[in-house]
Amino acid sequence: MGVLLARSAKLRRFSGYVLVPYPMVKRFERMAGRCEQGNEQGGILIGSHRGPHIELTDLTMPGPTDRGSPTSFEKIDPAHQRAADKTWRASDGRRTYIGEWHTHPGGRAAPSFRDRRTWAQVSAGISRAAAFIIVAPGMWSLFVTERRLTWSARELQIHSYGKANLVFSAVPGAGAE
Ligand SMILES: [Zn+2]
Repeated sequence: MGVLLARSAKLRRFSGYVLVPYPMVKRFERMAGRCEQGNEQGGILIGSHRGPHIELTDLTMPGPTDRGSPTSFEKIDPAHQRAADKTWRASDGRRTYIGEWHTHPGGRAAPSFRDRRTWAQVSAGISRAAAFIIVAPGMWSLFVTERRLTWSARELQIHSYGKANLVFSAVPGAGAE
């Protein structure tokens, strides 16, 4: 699990921005437009931590050995890890695994109990906040994990429209950095 599990976690309340490039926004919008039927799909999010901020750059799509049902997705295809490793090497360690995305066909863009448990496990393995996206029919939502008294994930709001990225933050339209 090399890249995925860099030990030592000290997560605080997330106060940065999450930048989502517009092509990725388009992709999630398209998925949201057609995920009402079928099995859950998912993959990983790749990007970098820049100070308190997260910049997403890539995502992986479901691989041949991933297992999806209408209500679950098991990310077991080695292609996800390979993509993270490859990007990590190609970027001199700047870009890496940042979190995960998955769809909720016929459901809401809110994490299930099981999602929260999975996200907490993911967060325990990386030393900073992780980003998660849930795509549901007609919408998609972005969450970051943060550790306070208990594990929790917080839904972010659209903060602004940047030149190349849609910018999310914990508080909509909140002050500058
Ligand atoms: Zn879910």
